[in-house]
Amino acid sequence: MMKVIVIVGLLAALLIGDLFAGTLQPDAETQKKLTPESVLKDLMAGNERYTKGELSDPNVKARVEKAVEGQFPKAYILSCVDSRVPVEQVFDQSIGDIFVGRVAGNVEGTDQLGSIEFATKVAGVKLVMVLGHEACGAVKGACDHVKLGNLTDLLAEITPAVESVEGHEDRSSKNKEFVDDVIEANVRKTVADLRERSEVLAGLEKEGAVKIVGAIYSLHDGSVTLLD
Ligand SMILES: [Zn+2]
Repeated sequence: MMKVIVIVGLLAALLIGDLFAGTLQPDAETQKKLTPESVLKDLMAGNERYTKGELSDPNVKARVEKAVEGQFPKAYILSCVDSRVPVEQVFDQSIGDIFVGRVAGNVEGTDQLGSIEFATKVAGVKLVMVLGHEACGAVKGACDHVKLGNLTDLLAEITPAVESVEGHEDRSSKNKEFVDDVIEANVRKTVADLRERSEVLAGLEKEGAVKIVGAIYSLHDGSVTLLD
C-alpha cells in the first residue's frame, strides 16, 4: 500500500512539474525542436484560449528569473500599435515567448525589417506574422489622405494598399467594407514586402527555417484569422 502511495505521489509530482514547465518560455533546447508549423499551431491555440477568456497562468516570477539566461522566442509578430490589440495576450504568450514589433498600420519599414532579420537569423524565431486588425485608424487615415506631421510619411506606406483595392464607390473611411478590404490588402502587401525587401528573410523562408504569414484580428470577438 505504501509503495502505491509513493508511486502515485511521484507521478503527481512529475505531472505537476510538467504543467509548470509548460508555462515557461522556451530555452535553447526546446526552441531547436520547434518548426514554423508547430509555432503557428501554438499561437492559434493560444488565441482560442484568449477568445474563450481562458488565458493560462503566465508564471511571471519564474519566467522573469529564467529570462536572465537568455531568450529563445518562437515568433515575431508585426502588429499595429492599437491599444485594443494586446499582442501577447491575444496569443496567450508571455515573457520570452515572442518578439512584438509595433508600428501604426503594421507596415514593415527599415527598422522593423532589421528587427525581424535579427529575430529570425540571430535569435532563431521560426514564424513571422503580420497582424492587421479590424477598424485600423492608420488604414482609415490613409484612406482619407490625412496629413499630420510625421504621420504623413507613415501613412504614405499604406497608400499603395489603398490604391490596390478596386470596386468601391465610396473610398473613404466611412465605408467599412472598403476599409476592411484595405486592411487585408495592407497585410498582404507587408508580407510580400518582407520577402521582397529582405534577402535574409526570403532565404530563410526558402530553406523552410521560417514561415511568414498574414493575419487579421477581430475587435468583435478577439479571434485571429489567417490569410491564405
Ligand atoms: Zn491599427
